[in-house]
Parts: sequence; C-alpha cells; structure tokens
Amino acid sequence: MSFLTINNLSLAFGEVKVLKELSLSIEEGELVTLLGPSGCGKSTLLRSIAGLVDPDNGSIVIDDKEVISMNPKDREVGMVFQSYALFPNLTVEDNIAFGLKMKKLNKGEIQKKVKNMIDLVGLNGKESSYPRELSGGQQQRAALARAIVVEPKVLLLDEPLSALDAQIRARLQNQIRDIQQKLGITMVFVTHDQEEAMAISDRIFLMNNGEIAQSGSPVEIYTRPNSEFVARFMGHYN
Ligand code: ADP
Ligand code: MG
Repeated sequence: MSFLTINNLSLAFGEVKVLKELSLSIEEGELVTLLGPSGCGKSTLLRSIAGLVDPDNGSIVIDDKEVISMNPKDREVGMVFQSYALFPNLTVEDNIAFGLKMKKLNKGEIQKKVKNMIDLVGLNGKESSYPRELSGGQQQRAALARAIVVEPKVLLLDEPLSALDAQIRARLQNQIRDIQQKLGITMVFVTHDQEEAMAISDRIFLMNNGEIAQSGSPVEIYTRPNSEFVARFMGHYN
C-alpha cells in the first residue's frame, strides 16, 4: 500500500464532471507534481485531499486511513496557496507559531521549532516583520515554514510560485526541493508550468480534463509521451 492512494475519485460541479474516476498513488517522501492546463481539475483534486471539497465517489487513503469522511483538521494535511495566506496582523514568528499554539505545545518547544523553521527557510532577521513588509518570495517562504512546522503527513502546494518573478521562482523551486529532501516530506505540488514540474519532481502526473493523461518521471514523460496531448503539453511542437 502506498502512503497516499486515491482510487476512482469522481467529482462534479452540477453537470460538469471535474474529476473522472481518477486514481493515483504516492510513496512516502516523494515529491510529485500535478501538472496540466488551467481548468483540468488540479486544484479540485488538491482540495479533495485537503477536505475542502467533497468528492461524489471514490476513496482517498493517507497512511492507511480513509480520510474522505474525516474532518479536514484531522487529516494531518498542510496546504500552501498561490496567494500568501499569512495572517496580516501577525509577525513572521507568530504566523509560524500559530499552528503550534493550537496544538498547545509549551513555550520553549514552540520557540525552538520556530527558530529551526526560520533558519530552514532563511528568514533570519525577519522574525518580527509583518507580511506586508516582506517581498512575495519571503512571504511564500514564511507560508512554507508555517505549513511545515506542524509536521503534516502530506504537504499540498497549489501553484505556490506562480505569482513570483522567474528568477525568484527558480531559487524557491530549488529551496523547496532541498527542504523536501532534507526532511523527507511527502509533497503534492500543483503547477501548470511544465518546466517547473520537470525541475522539481520525482514524478509527474499530467492531467487533462479531470483524468491522468500520463504519469512517470520527468524524463519518461518528456522523452516518451503517450499521446499527442502529452507531447504538445511538454513542448514538443514549439
Ligand atoms: P485547475 O486548478 O486545474 O485550473 P480547477 O480544479 O480549479 O482547475 O477547476 C476545474 C474545473 O472546475 C473548472 O472548469 C472550474 O471552472 C470548475 N470549478 C472549480 N471550482 C468550482 C466550484 N466551486 N464551482 C463550480 N465549478 C468549479
Ligand atoms: Mg488551480
């Protein structure tokens, strides 16, 4: 059994089928990308894993537990969004500490974990800054730290870098990859950018129209596309 297994997941908004009996499985410590054009259902799939939308059919098993009927907060899943969802009225330090306070850890433990996270994402010197005083890239690093510090079983990232400049984006791709490997976090990273997917993933699930068109390592998908859709999406006809 894989660490995260999705089986025959279906979801429709009214008449529109957004996820069509979709199945996939992910191993513990893997970084996989859900890649695909806008509207293909990437965010809906991620939100289903997080418990923010209810699928009509199918199952989602994380670490041997069926999570579909589970409360979102009991799923031990973290999420980072494209637009920085930091609390604007809290400092960087307090944003990162937020989830730990909810878990009622003692003050010393919280301070230690927050300090480790600040070091890990490289926000030293910004502990007392408010989100509005940070650059976009720094805000995303703080959002990443806040999501990781509570040690979720799976971290879901929905186009976390799409709003950033190319240069900062490339740097953050590397940083996310480094942190993921260092801590062995299981990550599901959503992007519509094939170069980004190629750069950071162990495996890519290329989606089209609510289904997985092809899955495999970046090299496999790039060199052996199984359809014209995949070949085009990976940039073969440009
Ligand atoms: P992606 O993240 O790949 O761009 P989404 O999962 O956001 O795709 O959307 C997939 C499809 O579902 C789109 O056609 C979108 O318009 C539709 N959709 C997403 N969320 C809702 C919603 N809450 N209500 C109705 N339709 C939605
Ligand atoms: Mg989306």
